[in-house]
Amino acid sequence: MRAALMVGQDEPLAMSEVDFPRVPPDGVVVKLDACGVCRTDWHIWKGHWDWLGVHPRLPLILGHEMAGVVVEVGGEVRNLHVGNRVVAPFHYSCGLCNRCQAGFQNLCKRPQFPGSSLQGGFAEYVPVPRAEVNLLVLPDSVDSLAASTLGCRFMTAFHGTVEIAQLRPGERIAVYGCGGVGLSAVMIASALGAEVIAVDIDDVKLEKAHEVGASFSVNSSSEDPVAAIKEFTNGGVEVTIDALGIEETVQNSIGTLRVRGRHVQIGLTTAKERGLVAMPIDIIVAQEIRIAGCHGMPRRRYPDLLRMVDKGLIQPASLIGQEVSLENVNSVLDGMSSFENVGFSVITTW
Ligand SMILES: [Zn+2]
Ligand SMILES: [Zn+2]
Repeated sequence: MRAALMVGQDEPLAMSEVDFPRVPPDGVVVKLDACGVCRTDWHIWKGHWDWLGVHPRLPLILGHEMAGVVVEVGGEVRNLHVGNRVVAPFHYSCGLCNRCQAGFQNLCKRPQFPGSSLQGGFAEYVPVPRAEVNLLVLPDSVDSLAASTLGCRFMTAFHGTVEIAQLRPGERIAVYGCGGVGLSAVMIASALGAEVIAVDIDDVKLEKAHEVGASFSVNSSSEDPVAAIKEFTNGGVEVTIDALGIEETVQNSIGTLRVRGRHVQIGLTTAKERGLVAMPIDIIVAQEIRIAGCHGMPRRRYPDLLRMVDKGLIQPASLIGQEVSLENVNSVLDGMSSFENVGFSVITTW
């Protein structure tokens, strides 16, 4: 089968013929219809997360935003069948540890990550272990292209907005960073009835944010977002999401909150911060500010998410900026280096 192989850090992926994957006894093989190219792929390719202990074994097939059709089923699998259309989350779980059993598969003690610790989706076919725990069968109304957006950035934004932030209708939310996660959060928050403010340094991305539901935006390269948002909202917002993860956006997010505000951190920090950012602790104490992290989404949230897509309340496919062929994945990765891609880039031709 055809695959794009990562053969070295920051080296172009090599278009190659590789062996058809072997089906795991508890898994399936999926023929991919669509696979998104995510900033996480770019970080792994660049070697940015060496300091986090992410050292993928090369050659590696990147890609973790996968949707497709089951073409082969392992002997132990009972509830998935050839022909099922499926989506995979970016985090595979064991289904057995106490966190999985408590319903938090996104925080599994023994996670696997396609495109990092396992083969990913920059290929025609992908093996998926523990498939009954990790795959979801798609309703007819959600096609593979739309579904490819649901396994990573969109679902993380959904979990962050709905469950972690507990965003309520009529509240105001500021989203820092309008890449894939940020635009997803804008769309979801708007669908939930919140007033959404978008912050980015790129006017094109802010325009897209307005298209998908933002009613106010700040270009933080020319304006102080904290001051602008406090003025617009007469004192700050109830909820902030930082979809980027640099020191400035973490601190600005917290600075934008009003009393008893909730901040959700989705973006991981860079090699510069290495996870450490100074916080205004006294303000956090005196104003009862809450700060929470968000990682992926528990499996039990998928039915709600898919129902909202099915009813047309959210349109994740409208966040797709470009469909590309496997050959073009290198140019997408290069474009990420200059932050020039708008919305999701999805491989749909193999
Ligand atoms: Zn992703
Ligand atoms: Zn587990």
